[in-house]
Amino acid sequence: MDISQLGEFGLIQRIKENLDTPAPGLVRGIGDDAAVFESPSGMEIVITCDAQVEGVHFLTQFMTPEQIGRKAAAINISDIAAMGARPTFMLVSLGLPKTTPVSFVDGLYKGFREECGSFGIAIIGGNMAQCPERAFIDITLLGQVEKGRALYRSTARPRDLVAVSGALGGSAAGLALLLNPEIQVDEEVRKAVFQAHVCPKPKVDLGRLLSVSGLVTAALDVSDGAAQDLGHICEESKIGATLRADKIPLSPSCQAVAQALGRDPLEFALFGGEDYELLFTFPEANKAGLEFRLADSGFAMTIIGRMEPGEPVVRITDPAGKDWNTHAAGWNHFQG
Ligand SMILES: [Mg+2]
Repeated sequence: MDISQLGEFGLIQRIKENLDTPAPGLVRGIGDDAAVFESPSGMEIVITCDAQVEGVHFLTQFMTPEQIGRKAAAINISDIAAMGARPTFMLVSLGLPKTTPVSFVDGLYKGFREECGSFGIAIIGGNMAQCPERAFIDITLLGQVEKGRALYRSTARPRDLVAVSGALGGSAAGLALLLNPEIQVDEEVRKAVFQAHVCPKPKVDLGRLLSVSGLVTAALDVSDGAAQDLGHICEESKIGATLRADKIPLSPSCQAVAQALGRDPLEFALFGGEDYELLFTFPEANKAGLEFRLADSGFAMTIIGRMEPGEPVVRITDPAGKDWNTHAAGWNHFQG
């Protein structure tokens, strides 16, 4: 059965039946002209959106509808996590060709529900439109954070240390492997990088810890590649940064894939993107305190660079001491 047989209202009814769960603070969910929720006192509301287009951001031959749904939600959750906020409510807009199987929509929503369920997020509304050629998924996610505690990109200071929460490059290695399926690697390695690419884990608890700690000056999530993302902090904070390529944490499976493809794993880690680890800055004086807080909650960080006074440019130093320039590299949505 495709969605044209069910019709827009039939499809909405089908979705609604699976989502009718009460959520704290929710006054009115799906079914009215708009949703209503209480605005908690002492908190600021954080909001983000992200559109995923079939053929550009997801490929239906590589991912199940459920995986596509999970990842579309996870990407938004990661942005809320990067602000130090707790995600709360989600709205979903879908653009779908008439011939889309109902099972695709069912799968998408199963993925949304799974991902949202693990973070206590309620899906409170959305919209559906016919889109002639390919599907798109546009998610709006709300979150909340204590007043004045949101983590920004614009507040890094010269000489702050730059740290990242986990290994980089796994997702890009996974994509490279999907695009080159003939490459031979261990099944374990294939699984690990595929998982990193398809099923990113948003760092909500870590973001909350960084926010509450008061020890961090700036933060974002690694979605475009560590080099480009640190560049975003530089631009917004109007200072520079040095990134030590030899300090970048690489997962063993990322290294194995790079070796099999005859590529430098740092390419995946610095310019690949979609790792959804958090990258953050803090004064050196806060290092021990932050390490203690992180270890106490089962998190870790790797220091990969330092903010510098001067032009908002990221200088990458390779293990041989040679400087790179990031401006030519990284994923750019309009050039890439
Ligand atoms: Mg982000």
